[in-house]
Amino acid sequence: GVSVALFTADLRVHDNPVLRAALRDAERVVPLFVVDSGIRRTGFVVPNRAAFLADSLADLDAALRARGGRLVVRAGDVVEETCRVAVETGASVVHIAGGVSRYAARREDRLRAELAQGGRLLRVHDASLTAVPPGTLTPAGKDHFAVFTPYFRRWEGFSVRDVLPAPDAVPVPEVGSAGLPDVKTLLSCPPGPVSPGLPAGGETEGRRRLRSWLAGPLDRYEEQHDDLTADATSRLSPYLHFGCLSPAEALHRVRAHAGPGAHAFVRQLAWRDFHHQVLAARPDAAHHDYRPRHDRWRADAEQIRAWKEGRTGYPVVDAAMRQLRHEGWMPGRARMLAASFLAKTLYVDWRVGARHFLDLLVDGDIANNQLNWQWVAGTGTDTRPNRVLNPLVQARRFDPRGAYAHRWLPELRATDAMHLPDAVRREAGYPSPIVDLAEATARFRRLRG
Ligand code: FAD
Repeated sequence: GVSVALFTADLRVHDNPVLRAALRDAERVVPLFVVDSGIRRTGFVVPNRAAFLADSLADLDAALRARGGRLVVRAGDVVEETCRVAVETGASVVHIAGGVSRYAARREDRLRAELAQGGRLLRVHDASLTAVPPGTLTPAGKDHFAVFTPYFRRWEGFSVRDVLPAPDAVPVPEVGSAGLPDVKTLLSCPPGPVSPGLPAGGETEGRRRLRSWLAGPLDRYEEQHDDLTADATSRLSPYLHFGCLSPAEALHRVRAHAGPGAHAFVRQLAWRDFHHQVLAARPDAAHHDYRPRHDRWRADAEQIRAWKEGRTGYPVVDAAMRQLRHEGWMPGRARMLAASFLAKTLYVDWRVGARHFLDLLVDGDIANNQLNWQWVAGTGTDTRPNRVLNPLVQARRFDPRGAYAHRWLPELRATDAMHLPDAVRREAGYPSPIVDLAEATARFRRLRG
């Protein structure tokens, strides 16, 4: 028989439960990716992620061809296209990875119903997009963990499934034309520049980066992951987001490595699973405050623009926002302090900032982006929702010599980027601070207290 492996956020041949199950079920498999018009309509497809996706699909196609198969790419409504391919090839089963967003849940429901009309089955594989499947670990009487530490304790003790080898051969039936269509054209995302420092996508690149990460830099992760000057994090997030790298495999590999840094890094992978299990249980949290509040956000258009363009007058915030534009990526510490500045210091609705991040981040992810924003804004699962990060203190702690600020704000020639004299700012064309920190903090406490 024939089965369909419908790829979503699992663009890899190694450790892919969907591909393995499809091959187990049938003599021939259709490895399918649908450029989904539904996702395009949500505005989620942006130039940076479209470019990374195009790389990743080309790499997946090459990996499948090396195994005697190829990737079949269609464009249109994902449910209609998948059913069409199933009918064309006589497939009796479609396999897909279980998603955590409301969109993914609807997609699964619609697929199941439409396939059933032709007597076909949908099989959903839950241990694919996270190391621990969402919903597996729950506190007594609740459907998800809202606090990270108790979640992490249970998560650490969970026995994650073994890594699945890449298949040796992927026999594909006759289906449609044989070439890989031009994905960038199919995606037809809103025109806009791709960030010049965007990383290359794909499983090959993701695996290469994991190998070199394990071979050295991981050892320094525990001490340096927050250090903006050191730039010492893995940069694996886009590969995990698109599933070029399996989170379960990354976890096993890092644990096997066991050296310094491994524990701190594993903890970050647990944060990823944590946010996914929150969203799976509360899909509304992608758009609505997880912890409801009753006052109004401020919406000062000029301040919002200054934040987006990296002109707030606070060098560490502005450096972060310029790195975002240039690379489509920022280290976690930079995301945290830039987000806190918008949501707590300027008191602007976190959704405004989350949208801007999603417009640019190559790893832009509904679970991780929306729930981290809520965490920082104090509307989410943070157990200290009223703490306000002071950008001067953040700079002193995580960029003490101002090297990070200088890297992204070359116009600032002064050595002490934190305490720029007005004359230096004027000469460099660099703005004065757009907000007074003490007043902003007092305002936050008054509104939220
Ligand atoms: P490392 O420090 O090397 O961590 C390894 C991996 O652990 C990351 O690749 C990531 O998959 C995971 N991870 C680390 N920190 C977190 C976290 N706080 N939450 C969830 N997973 C984590 N991450 C995204 O993947 N996509 C997003 O859209 C995203 N938006 C964010 C928005 C805000 C406001 C904040 C504060 C954080 C956001 N993060 C997001 C989480 C985190 O900042 C990034 O995953 C991380 O900085 C990516 O860099 P790295 O791969 O070098 O991370």
